[in-house]
Amino acid sequence: MMDAEYDVIVIGGGPAGSTAAALLAEYGHKVLLLERETMPRYHIGESLIPYTWFTLNRLGLLDKMQQSANPKKYSVQFVSIAGKVSQPFYFFQTIKHECAVTWQVLRSDFDVMLLDNAREKGAEVRQGVTVRDVLMEGSRVVGVRADLKDGARGTEIRAKVVVDASGRDSLLSRKFNWKDRDPDLNKIAIWSYFKGSARAPGVDEGATTVAYIPDKGWFWHVPLPDDIVSVGVVAEPAYLYRETRDPNEIFAREVRDCVWIHDRVKQGEQVEPVRVTGEFSYYSRQIGGDGFCLAGDAYSFLDPLFSSGVFLALKSGEMAADAIHAGLETGDVSAHHFDEYLEQQQQAVASFRSLVRAFYDLTFSFREFLDEYPHLHGAIVDTLVGNVFNDLTPLYEALSTFSQREARAEITTTTA
Ligand SMILES: Cc1cc2nc3c(=O)[nH]c(=O)nc-3n(C[C@H](O)[C@H](O)[C@H](O)COP(=O)(O)OP(=O)(O)OC[C@H]3O[C@@H](n4cnc5c(N)ncnc54)[C@H](O)[C@@H]3O)c2cc1C
Repeated sequence: MMDAEYDVIVIGGGPAGSTAAALLAEYGHKVLLLERETMPRYHIGESLIPYTWFTLNRLGLLDKMQQSANPKKYSVQFVSIAGKVSQPFYFFQTIKHECAVTWQVLRSDFDVMLLDNAREKGAEVRQGVTVRDVLMEGSRVVGVRADLKDGARGTEIRAKVVVDASGRDSLLSRKFNWKDRDPDLNKIAIWSYFKGSARAPGVDEGATTVAYIPDKGWFWHVPLPDDIVSVGVVAEPAYLYRETRDPNEIFAREVRDCVWIHDRVKQGEQVEPVRVTGEFSYYSRQIGGDGFCLAGDAYSFLDPLFSSGVFLALKSGEMAADAIHAGLETGDVSAHHFDEYLEQQQQAVASFRSLVRAFYDLTFSFREFLDEYPHLHGAIVDTLVGNVFNDLTPLYEALSTFSQREARAEITTTTA
């Protein structure tokens, strides 16, 4: 039996929800986490970036991560369309901190670890429960209406605060019509898993590889435990659907055509069905209201080029927990209480987005950009590793000036 009232109800037991629930329970609040699925469940989003270390450390999970079978990720490398491999970008060359070594994770296991941690810290965790809506009194959210595992529908459970961590379902930003798509990042992803494909030795074994395909599309190649590798392609729908709409055919064609990927996976065996997702990048115009806030993908989702999703989910779960705790202490959890949280999340997402958009801009070259702005090398590295909660305005401004000028030069050349 669930109680009729809690301090906090968290919707969703992914990285954002489990982090918020664990920290709020640790603060001493009475927390209920409701997860629709029964864990372990499948999820995409397997490559971490260095600054996830800090939230995992606060959650007390670094020992578990060290002891896990997750491949250690020291670097990212890029492969040209012709198959030429760049020098790997090793995080330890720029970060003199333990966080420079991060992980590739099997999300089903990683998410169980996070959810168990929330439970161990005192949160009540209910799986197989689908939240249908929130309860409102005027503009204030005062709880949720959920379908329970035993079949009871529309059960009302009250709370002082509700956290929407429902991921790409975005329960509350849809309800309040806050969700905006990013028209410049209209991509789709098609992916699967291979067992027994070729792996680099030693320190490069767990590297993420980004392999370019034409029209600024790209493949990810992410080594996972048990000799499995996650392989997926991201590109414009018009490019991927140019001959057929059958995802199996598209995936097979793109793997065959990408020299580096094909060389790796040809000796392995595809062990999972092909999966597809669209609706790529979006964000919510608000992050909270009276008695509620959003965290993780429920707030914003960005193209996975730089593996920012789990980092932002963990970090926003942490920030949401701190903001809610402060609010519960003073008895004020009204909308304005989440203003600073919104500002910080907007800034973090904007940092990643500025680099993602530059990558997809056909006139943009990172090498030429850095020739002109060598002093911004550090700001780019900061973004790639997740050090994004500081002022990166000079980077955005320079990227914007550079891109506009390159675009103008392109137009002039084309029309001359
Ligand atoms: C193709 C692709 C590749 C990606 N690659 C990477 C990567 O390499 N690295 C990276 O960091 N990120 C990656 N991501 C992003 C990453 O998957 C997400 O950012 C991350 O999972 C967000 O965590 P979350 O906790 O916000 O949401 P989720 O992990 O989606 O968790 C939300 C949870 O809420 C539950 N839920 C939903 N609705 C309800 C409801 N009504 N009631 C109860 N429960 C509900 C769901 O079952 C789910 O368990 C990728 C994403 C895509 C699409």
